[in-house]
Amino acid sequence: MTPRGLLIVVSGPSGAGKGTICKSLISEYKDIGISVSATTREPRDGEVDGKNYFFLKKEKFQSMIHNDELLEYAKVYQNYYGTPKKFVLDKVLSGEDVLLEIDIQGALQVKEKYPEGIFVFILPPSMEELKNRIINRGSETEDSFKLRYSSALDEMSFIKDYDYFIINDEIHKATSKLICIIEAEKNRIISN
Ligand code: 5GP
Repeated sequence: MTPRGLLIVVSGPSGAGKGTICKSLISEYKDIGISVSATTREPRDGEVDGKNYFFLKKEKFQSMIHNDELLEYAKVYQNYYGTPKKFVLDKVLSGEDVLLEIDIQGALQVKEKYPEGIFVFILPPSMEELKNRIINRGSETEDSFKLRYSSALDEMSFIKDYDYFIINDEIHKATSKLICIIEAEKNRIISN
């Protein structure tokens, strides 16, 4: 029987820098499949459909929910995001490792359905830095800043549901730690 691949879920509060770490991981570490999420949000400049996300109309997204085609989904700041199930499970069952970069609500759903996953929580170096990062995202209004900052504070409490944490103080260090976690998990002895 082919051993299963790893399902690595990288998650954490908005502004912690999980997206940056995952991009950096992909450029350094080729031996992993990346799940492309579906979303109802509009593409940003430079984003490519099928590469950054599958950009879908709300009706299409709802039909994926209805047909049980998503491993998890969540509404994140007005838009829906979800992980297409087939891609992830096909890869993992055929022995390939897959990385998911998703929000905390989604990560908790994956944990329910697939507790064998490896759950990694990305922390900002400090709350002050988190504040700056949320502000520096540009398009934030005062209200959306407050919403994002207060939900980031709430989200911090979910760290207890994860297997590992990484403090994102320096991108190369944080990426190396993620690679170490993946490599260690590949060498885990699993008792029956
Ligand atoms: P953005 O719109 O900035 O690309 O992403 C917004 C948030 O949605 C980020 O926290 C990102 O991790 C999260 N996200 C992206 N894809 C998914 C997904 O498939 N499922 C869930 N639950 N969250 C996602």
